[in-house]
Amino acid sequence: MADRIQLLPDHVANQIAAGEVVQRPASVVKELLENAIDAGASVVKLIVKDGGKTLIQVVDDGSGMSVTDARLSFERHATSKIRSAEDLFDLHTKGFRGEALASIAAIAHVEMHSRLEETELGTHLKIEGSKVISQETAATPVGTSVAVKNLFFNIPARRNFLKSTKIELRHITDEFHRVVLAHPAVEFHFYNNGSELFNLPATGLRKRIVHIFGSRTNEKLVPVTESTHVVGVSGFICKPEFAKKSRGEQFFFVNNRYIRNSYLHHALVSAYEGLIKPDTHPGYFLYLEVNPASIDINIHPTKTEIKFDDERSLYAILRATVKHSLGQFNVAPVLDFEHDKNLDTPYAYRQKGAISPNISVNARFNPFDEGKQQERPVFSRVSSDRGSWEALYSGLDTNDRQENGFSSVHLESDAITGSIFDRQEETDRSGATTFQFKRKYIVTSIKSGLLVIDQNRAHQRVLYEKFLKSITIRNAISQQLLFPLKLSLSRSDVQSLEEIKETLSAVGFVFGKLEDETAEVTGVPLLVTQGEVAAVLDQLIADCQAHNDSQGFSQTDVFSKTLSRSLAVKAGEVLDPASRQALVDDLFACKEPAFSPFNKSVYTTITESDIDKKFT
Ligand code: ADP
Ligand code: MG
Repeated sequence: MADRIQLLPDHVANQIAAGEVVQRPASVVKELLENAIDAGASVVKLIVKDGGKTLIQVVDDGSGMSVTDARLSFERHATSKIRSAEDLFDLHTKGFRGEALASIAAIAHVEMHSRLEETELGTHLKIEGSKVISQETAATPVGTSVAVKNLFFNIPARRNFLKSTKIELRHITDEFHRVVLAHPAVEFHFYNNGSELFNLPATGLRKRIVHIFGSRTNEKLVPVTESTHVVGVSGFICKPEFAKKSRGEQFFFVNNRYIRNSYLHHALVSAYEGLIKPDTHPGYFLYLEVNPASIDINIHPTKTEIKFDDERSLYAILRATVKHSLGQFNVAPVLDFEHDKNLDTPYAYRQKGAISPNISVNARFNPFDEGKQQERPVFSRVSSDRGSWEALYSGLDTNDRQENGFSSVHLESDAITGSIFDRQEETDRSGATTFQFKRKYIVTSIKSGLLVIDQNRAHQRVLYEKFLKSITIRNAISQQLLFPLKLSLSRSDVQSLEEIKETLSAVGFVFGKLEDETAEVTGVPLLVTQGEVAAVLDQLIADCQAHNDSQGFSQTDVFSKTLSRSLAVKAGEVLDPASRQALVDDLFACKEPAFSPFNKSVYTTITESDIDKKFT
């Protein structure tokens, strides 16, 4: 039989390798920025067009390259950074594989200008799909400029797979943040489609953070320092009261390289235990210095994971250090998580003026009439995305039902006690009265027994259907604010807001100018009070970012869920009788009253025979 194995031609091998290094424009940005840093640049410019799909260019004033080096830099495994395997254990550069430029050149149109300080003229190289198109001497400044155009031009499948320009731009911005935070002493400029997104002068870390995330960030930062024989820790953590709904501002750097490490992240979060709400995330910018020989970063070209020799000590040191800083800066105690919601507008009045959902209901239909229960299979709903949603919001549901709470029923107040015993037992819901149990449940009597409704979930369901509808038919009512609200956000949050403002207008949010670090809000949905706007938008942005990349993402659904969760009455809020009744009525006007938008049961019934059994 004839031999069949052949060596792949270089350009094919390069294309395959490129698949590992370059997933999207942001990967190119990371590689080029890191090369500029490795070359000792003091000013670096990043220029992108159309989320990097049309152009990614990095210009530096670093060492530059000789003619030969410029040409060689595009060969696979060509690197000036390591000479032998031992060097891997003493890395002081970002790159070391010599793969990035070869990979990028295999799948894009690349143009490089480079000049050493000691030569008068530099080199101008053009490479397309690994083929050198031209190489000539050229007048060019000291340093290197690499322009990458038409990424994935020869791999249509990958090109088609790219996300919208805005999403790609956000990935690029994320990579940019990771590099510039590791190198505050280097000046950076970032231009997108001709406008300057970031202008970061050379400075110290604190100012760099503030330049990136907005002037309001300064007051949030608490310094951290510790030095032990295992690790040096420095940087900043954010005060607990500024914990955010989104995970955005969490950065670990090890030896100035951005890394992700869930174990260390856990150490950090555990130091905040009891200081922040369970569904919020502390911000941090932490820099660990360890002996390069004690880590293994050689796992995968683009992975940001890292292995440490002695993770457990690191965990303990990090946790203690962060706790110490929180304590020292007197930021540990206090914190009143919930303002007294009972001072807010009662439920029954909150919806005044809102258009009630146009859902047709059979007025004579009684869902609690046992004989007819089959007609309305409310419990049959099993949503296919149940798992993922539950996982996303797990831990948020702090008022989980106590299994046997019913055996120890005691009534909250005399007034309520009175109303219960005063009334005649009713057999249909229209005449039923309600009472509130533990400020958490609404209890009402139905023909077959008692109905216990979780007030928070019930209201979530009501709001969810309302928002779904108003987004779909775009009839939301917005209350115009007399004085537009100016919110200070990070630039990337403003960017995200720009992406979703169209859909948000369908629920009643109206925006004025969105620029740099401020968002102007001129109108809000009827149900949102001015004091809630910032928190609600924060949550919307966070959820939207979390879902942007997932397949089958429906903004309408995400928004409706977020808003219903943010705005629903919570456990602990006292509801007056009118509000309770209104909520029960609204709930049973819903299409799916039995489940919250997050697929949790909204109510349960305790049948007469359940009660009878207690008395046998
Ligand atoms: P690596 O960074 O892993 O060495 P790259 O493919 O990114 O691999 O780069 C190959 C080589 O090209 C580098 O080792 C370096 O010598 C040279 N090089 C790349 N970019 C620059 C730059 N901006 N300035 C100077 N030299 C560079
Ligand atoms: Mg490199």
